[in-house]
Amino acid sequence: MADQKWYLGLDVGSAASKCVVVDGDGGVVAKACHPSGAGTPGPETVVSACLDALGASLGEIAASCATGYGRHLSSWTTYEVSELTCHAAGAAALFPGVRTVIDIGGQDAKVLSIDGQGNLANFAMNDKCAAGTGRFLEVMARIFGCDVSELAALDEAALSVAPISSTCTVFAESEVISKLASGTPVADIAAGVDDSVAKRACGLAKRVGVKAPVAMTGGVALNGALRRRIAAELGVDVATCELAQLNGAYGAALVALRRSGGGDE
Ligand code: ADP
Repeated sequence: MADQKWYLGLDVGSAASKCVVVDGDGGVVAKACHPSGAGTPGPETVVSACLDALGASLGEIAASCATGYGRHLSSWTTYEVSELTCHAAGAAALFPGVRTVIDIGGQDAKVLSIDGQGNLANFAMNDKCAAGTGRFLEVMARIFGCDVSELAALDEAALSVAPISSTCTVFAESEVISKLASGTPVADIAAGVDDSVAKRACGLAKRVGVKAPVAMTGGVALNGALRRRIAAELGVDVATCELAQLNGAYGAALVALRRSGGGDE
């Protein structure tokens, strides 16, 4: 353990903070996620959780890299690298051979096109509007009186999809409230909410061009029903994995490892 080197990646998102530590071979040795992001104690919480799990101090980390919306707030890291670069690095390692990555986070949705060498070739992003992001799902879950993590189960119980026609989150909120008031089942509305986010993500994906294999990352990838809607709309399998929400932090840890010329002796 004495010669072991560790590389830390920190993703300071708008909704959640994520930290991943890898060893010199790029293997994950610690990970943490906290549902509060930039401008909160979230980043410090996840870094401490990873260091505690390793029984290490920050001084024992060989190199670190911050990414995400609030990356500029973590001035102590060795590197500060864009989300696109870190997400591409993470996804290429998590999903070998992946060509399209759909990432939906708290405040943006992006689709990355990855070339045959695992490098970012192209991307499309929606970071101007809450519709089509995790924020939209959170607003709707609040109206249903449930947690965002419960939306998938509601969607799966739907007998039909109650479409959401408004393209703006504020108007969609009123539309959902009036559908509830008129007796539309919550499950059908939840299906409509997921469907609306899925269709927006597919619109972005079609802009960059969808090549299989396709993977989904970001916190919204945890919503399996929404992921299946994207797969059905695109007509391809959409893979995900346990580290999907931590993909940016994992990529940041790999960037820290590579840029510092790291690896175990
Ligand atoms: P960011 O990097 O912008 O902080 P994340 O990729 O961490 O965003 O995703 C956060 C979003 O993921 C939240 O806004 C929420 O909508 C969604 N989310 C978080 N946990 C879950 C869950 N268990 N099931 C479904 N969606 C989730």
